[in-house]
Amino acid sequence: MQSPHPSRALETLQRVFGHADFRGEQAAIVDHVASGHDALVLMPTGGGKSLCYQVPALLRDGTAIVVSPLIALMQDQVEALHQLGVRAAYLNSTLDAEQAQAIERDLREGALDLLYVAPERLLTARFMGLLDRSRIALFAIDEAHCVSQWGHDFRPEYRELTVLHERWPDVPRIALTATADPPTQREIAERLQLDDATRFVSSFDRPNIRYHVVQKDNARRQLLAFLQAHRAEAGIVYCLSRRKVEETAEWLVAHGIDAVPYHAGLDARVRAEHQRRFLREDGVVVCATIAFGMGIDKPDVRFVAHMDLPKSIEGYYQETGRAGRDGEAADAWMCYGLGDLVLLRQMIEQSESGEERKRLEHRKLDQLVGYAETMACRRRVLLASFGETYRPTGAIGAGDHDCGNCDNCLQPPESWDATIAAQKALSAVFRSGQRFGAAHVIDILRGADNDKIRQFGHDTLSTYGIGGELDARAWRGVFRQLVAQGLLGVDAEGYGALRLTPASRGVLRGEDGVRLRKLAPPTRGGTGGARASSAAAAVEAPDQPLFEALRAWRGRLAREQNVPAYVIFHDATLREIATRRPKSLPELGGIGGIGAGKLERYGEAVIDVVFEHD
Ligand code: ADP
Ligand code: ZN
Repeated sequence: MQSPHPSRALETLQRVFGHADFRGEQAAIVDHVASGHDALVLMPTGGGKSLCYQVPALLRDGTAIVVSPLIALMQDQVEALHQLGVRAAYLNSTLDAEQAQAIERDLREGALDLLYVAPERLLTARFMGLLDRSRIALFAIDEAHCVSQWGHDFRPEYRELTVLHERWPDVPRIALTATADPPTQREIAERLQLDDATRFVSSFDRPNIRYHVVQKDNARRQLLAFLQAHRAEAGIVYCLSRRKVEETAEWLVAHGIDAVPYHAGLDARVRAEHQRRFLREDGVVVCATIAFGMGIDKPDVRFVAHMDLPKSIEGYYQETGRAGRDGEAADAWMCYGLGDLVLLRQMIEQSESGEERKRLEHRKLDQLVGYAETMACRRRVLLASFGETYRPTGAIGAGDHDCGNCDNCLQPPESWDATIAAQKALSAVFRSGQRFGAAHVIDILRGADNDKIRQFGHDTLSTYGIGGELDARAWRGVFRQLVAQGLLGVDAEGYGALRLTPASRGVLRGEDGVRLRKLAPPTRGGTGGARASSAAAAVEAPDQPLFEALRAWRGRLAREQNVPAYVIFHDATLREIATRRPKSLPELGGIGGIGAGKLERYGEAVIDVVFEHD
C-alpha cells in the first residue's frame, strides 16, 4: 500500500477540522495508519487522539469502524463530526430497528466515513457478516485499556477484539488509550495482538494543568476561596463519601455557585439530569464521588478540586486529567490533611482484602502522600511516578527541569529545622500512652484546659504546655508531615491513634534532624487561578461583552439542536473571535477550529454577532 502524500493529511486537517497544524505525534500516526499500518497510541487525555483515526478515516477508502465502550461519548463524537460536515454515524442500543437498518445500508453502500459501535454489537455474527459485505478503511479501538483486567474499566468483550485482526488481516488497526502506567500498556499490546504495531508514546505531561496542594484547615471555605478564580466555569469537585458530596454541593449552592451532586446512591434519573446539565450547560460544577468522570469528554472543564485524598497517584492523575482537555489553562487543586491520611489507612486496614493487597494499597497511598508533601516541582514528581522524566517542550539535553506551573514552582516552599518541635511532638505522643489522635496531643502541647485533658490527668505530664510557640494550625502541619515521613505511625485498625515508629527513636535521641515545610498563609485557595499568569494566557485579552454574547448565541443554538455547546464551537474559538473580531468569512475561516463545514453553517451568524457588538 502506498503512503498518501503527507500534505493531503494536512490539507484535510485544515479544511475539515479548521486546525492549522498537527500536534506532537499526530502527523506521524496519521501517516502511518493512512498508509495501512497498525498503531498503538499512548497519549494523555486532551492530547488529540481522535484526529489520529478521524483523519486517516477520511483519507482511506471505505468506512472506519470505531470501537468505543461508551454510548454517551459516541453520540457526542458523532454529533461533533456532523457539525464538521463529516459522514459519521453510530450503532448502539439507543436506536430503533429502522434507524439501525438505515445506517447498515449506508455502511454497505459506502456512504459513511466513520461508524462508531459498541464492542458487544461489533462482535455479533450479524455485524461481522455486514462488515464482510462492506469496505473497511480501518479499525480504531478507543479506550484500549478496557482489555486490562487490572484497570478500572475492564470490559470482557474487548478481549475478543483480536478477531478483527484474524478475520481482516489487511485492514489497519489503531488502538488508543490515555493510560499512563507501563504494565497496562504492555497488557494492551499483548491482549489485542498488537505486539508488532508501532507504538507512539507521547509525554503524559498536561502542561496546561496547574497543580496545587494546600493543607486542609477549613476545607469548604478553602474551596470557596479557590473557586473565586473560576466564576461561571465548569468544574468537578471530588469528595470521598456520598454524604460529603451532597453537603458540599448544598454549601456551594448556598454561596451562589451552580453546583449539583452526583453519586451512585442518587436516583438514576436525577443522576442523568445532573450529568446532562454539566455537559450541556455552561458553568455547572459537579460535586461527585469518583463514580463520576469516566467517559466524560467535556473539553472545557476548567478545574478539578479534590476535597479528600484520592487512593493512588494513578487515580489522581486520571481525575485531574479531566480538566483542560481543550488545552486551555486549567487548575487541579487538592486540599489535604492528617485526617485524610488516617481515614484512608483505616479504610485499607478494615477492608476485606488479603495482606498482600493491603500492602500494595498502603504503598500506593504512600506514593500519593509523597506527591502531596513534596517541596519539589509537582509535575516532575507526578510524571516520575509513571517512569517519565519531565522535560519542557523545547528543552535540550537531560537534567532536571521545573515546570513553572505548579504551586511549588510558583511559590517555592521554605523549609525549617523542626527537630525540636518534632521531639516535643513525639514525646507528647509517647507520654500520653500512644492512644490519642493529633487533636488531643496538640491540646497537650499547647496546654489546653478542657475536660478530656483533666479527665486523663494530662495537665500533669511533663510535655503539657511545652508547645506554645506554634499555634494549633501549625502543629497540625507538623503532625501531618511527621506521619507522612514515617516518623509517627497511625493505629489504622483502631481509632487512628498516633504511635511511635522505629524511625521515631533517632529523632527522640537527638541523632536525626527533621526538616519540614513551612506553612503557607491560611485560607488562600492556593496560588490563584491558572489563567492569571499562565504562559498559555492570550497576549491580547478578548472583548468580554462580545465573548459573552458569543457564548449566549452558542447556548441558544446548542439548545435548539439539543447538542453540547462545545460541539458547536470551543471556548478557545469563541475567545479568538472575540479578540480578532473578524468581519468577513475569509477572516473568520482563519480562526482555529473553524473548518469549511462550520464556516458554511455558522459563518454569517457569527459575523452578525460581531457587528452587533461593534
Ligand atoms: P483525547 O481524545 O486525546 O482526549 P481529543 O481528541 O478529544 O483528545 O482532543 C482534545 C482537544 O484538542 C480537542 O478540543 C481537539 O479539538 C483539540 N485538538 C486536537 N488536535 C488538535 C490540533 N492538531 N490542533 C488544534 N487542536 C487540536
Ligand atoms: Zn512545577
